[in-house]
Amino acid sequence: MFIQSKLPNIGTTIFTVMSSLAVKYNAINLGQGFPDFMMSEDLIALTNKAMSEGFNQYTHMNGYPLLRERLAEKIKKLYSTNINADSQITITPGGTYAIYTALTTILQPGDEVIVFEPAYDSYIPNIEINQAKPVLISLQYPNYSIPWEEVRKKVNNKTRAIIINTPHNPTGMVLSENDIEQLRSIVNGTNIFIISDEVYEHLIFDALQHQSILLHPDLLERSFVCFSFGKTYHCTGWKLGYCISSPELMQEYRKVHQFNAFSCDTPKQVALAEYLQNSSAYLSLGVYLQQKRDYFRELMKATPFQLIPSHGSYFECYSYQNLSNENDFDFAVRLTKENGITAIPLSSFYKNKTDNKVLRFCFAKKEDTLKSAVERLLSI
Ligand code: PMP
Ligand code: GLN
Repeated sequence: MFIQSKLPNIGTTIFTVMSSLAVKYNAINLGQGFPDFMMSEDLIALTNKAMSEGFNQYTHMNGYPLLRERLAEKIKKLYSTNINADSQITITPGGTYAIYTALTTILQPGDEVIVFEPAYDSYIPNIEINQAKPVLISLQYPNYSIPWEEVRKKVNNKTRAIIINTPHNPTGMVLSENDIEQLRSIVNGTNIFIISDEVYEHLIFDALQHQSILLHPDLLERSFVCFSFGKTYHCTGWKLGYCISSPELMQEYRKVHQFNAFSCDTPKQVALAEYLQNSSAYLSLGVYLQQKRDYFRELMKATPFQLIPSHGSYFECYSYQNLSNENDFDFAVRLTKENGITAIPLSSFYKNKTDNKVLRFCFAKKEDTLKSAVERLLSI
């Protein structure tokens, strides 16, 4: 049987490649972004309770109604924006699905989508599978800021969307108020949509404020804002997230969603609805993860790796240019095999495999894990 591939140039995601290598060589895995510490026991208990109480059948296609109401309340509190729980929120099986559904809702063959690189690895295949074209713009190394003048030059009448991601994976860069102003001035008066990947909404450090699109009702009119409970509550295996948009856009979004996932895991949604009442659980996340970032950063000072500071997410990037001329993929593989520590090479987040000799490390780990990992790096 012959399949004409819809993604002829796409291999296996780097996260799977590096995690498999980590298992094979028994390495400490600071590659793929997932915590190795326990999620909240309270949230587990609430999920068990929901299952025992019989919440085990399909819930509403758009998401468990009380969960959507609680999310609307949270958004009002955090961003002072009124969101209608019935018409503007859809619960999805993860943030990646939320983004894919948004792109599939809006893209026609030949449309262009502006993507900033390094980019989370699902964006480009999501665009290409819709027969649209990613228009790539490199963030400015080494601070990974957006070159807005270049964005202005690349916008044309085929531009259908711009994808933003703050806090940013893989660099930990966060957008500023000025970035949002620049974005607004570019999209004003156009038909350009914004896909805003905000899965690291609460994982922001150094007393910086998360610049959510939800702060800006005028921008939300043209946006799909995507979140992940997996990232917020340290349960990436739950694969549960949500998308927020205007009522008009959400109506079209749900046409795609209803014949794909239709609805998501019920007991976890019931549990999350109750757990969202506890605002300190999400408000304390930034401080908690910053302690881990700072602990890892302090340990890394003893190594020859050079820090590229992160202000959010699960990740911090380091240059190894003092250590080797090898390309970053080969270096990362060697680090796994010979030193027993796994990181993600940044070239994987560029379509043309730009190699600045940088690795991404996930610090969402127990202190012991981070300590053992850096001890292994010291032996290089
Ligand atoms: N966007 C970015 C930037 C991410 O790092 C992740 C984490 N995997 C996602 C989206 C999607 O998260 P989920 O696991 O909920 O699909
Ligand atoms: N978001 C995680 C990362 O960047 C992993 C996502 C995945 O494995 N697909 O590492």
